[in-house]
Amino acid sequence: MDPYPDAVAQAVSTGSLPGWARVDELVLEAHTRGLADADGTVADYIPALAAADPELFGVCVAEVDGGLHTAGDAEVEFSIQSISKAFVYALVCERLGHVAVRERVGVNNTGLSFNSVIAVELNAGHPMNPMVNAGALATTALVDGGTPAAQWAAVHDGLSRFAGRTLELDDEVYASESRTNGRNRALAQLLESYGRIEVDPLAVVDIYTRQCSLRVTARDLAVMGATLADGGVNPVTGERVVSAQVCRDTLAVLAATGLYERSGEWLFEIGLPGKSGVAGGIVTVAPGKAGIGTYAPRLDRAGNSVRGQRATAHLSRVLGLNVFASAVHPRAGGTPR
Ligand code: GLU
Repeated sequence: MDPYPDAVAQAVSTGSLPGWARVDELVLEAHTRGLADADGTVADYIPALAAADPELFGVCVAEVDGGLHTAGDAEVEFSIQSISKAFVYALVCERLGHVAVRERVGVNNTGLSFNSVIAVELNAGHPMNPMVNAGALATTALVDGGTPAAQWAAVHDGLSRFAGRTLELDDEVYASESRTNGRNRALAQLLESYGRIEVDPLAVVDIYTRQCSLRVTARDLAVMGATLADGGVNPVTGERVVSAQVCRDTLAVLAATGLYERSGEWLFEIGLPGKSGVAGGIVTVAPGKAGIGTYAPRLDRAGNSVRGQRATAHLSRVLGLNVFASAVHPRAGGTPR
């Protein structure tokens, strides 16, 4: 049931970015600031991820007019990991609609770690949050297609359309995670036992592991984010990927849950929806303005890229992106009240 059936007109985020040259300058500045931070550790619970060069650092801002600003290693590929959850969620919302997906997968933070089994048990089998593994598995299970192969094709095609190019599978990461993802297999089977996954749970884990193993760059993440910032149209290819309402719904979920157990701190400091992944990527979305993609493999204890957070925080401030920041409206004929 929709608890807010009378909600009608949708407001949109307003304002614009400074001119082209200034954004370019600020992206370089954000990169330089992030470089100064060498804290954090590279993820190693998926063995193939441990091999990443910890010094890599790329930043990209994709404006909703299709303009791109890059600094550092913005063209280096890495596995998208958890960031895929945001985009698969959008594709499933597009297919099933706002209310059905909220009822099925939830939109609230669990307050527990991203791969928690106890969170599922505490909520009588409801995953609560599409950005933790249980909720992401339940979401991937809802992807259109009669067979696992058709579902994978839909995920691969959908994520590629967000990026504006055909994304490739990282075979090494996929093989490595497939060997070590016993916990995700357990989660999927637990969800099946609660009736939350109605297809073969192990096939769902395989599709999920593939979606996490797609290779992207910071530039791709920025374009994917800019698609969510642009009412669902990829600003580089001009293709509509999802509806504007699906963008709004997805961004609301990311604002609440995108940065693991640090989602509240992130929103407090940065004031934008974002999603991070354990390979070191972060996508951030400034609705109506731009997508930001960053890549740097060293992570904080919650699993978020340290340099990526630094650079994004800087960009949010200097570009005026925080959705909670306002200024007094100048009244006609006078100074602000
Ligand atoms: N594929 C990873 C897992 O399921 C994704 C984790 C993440 O990026 O948070 O463990």
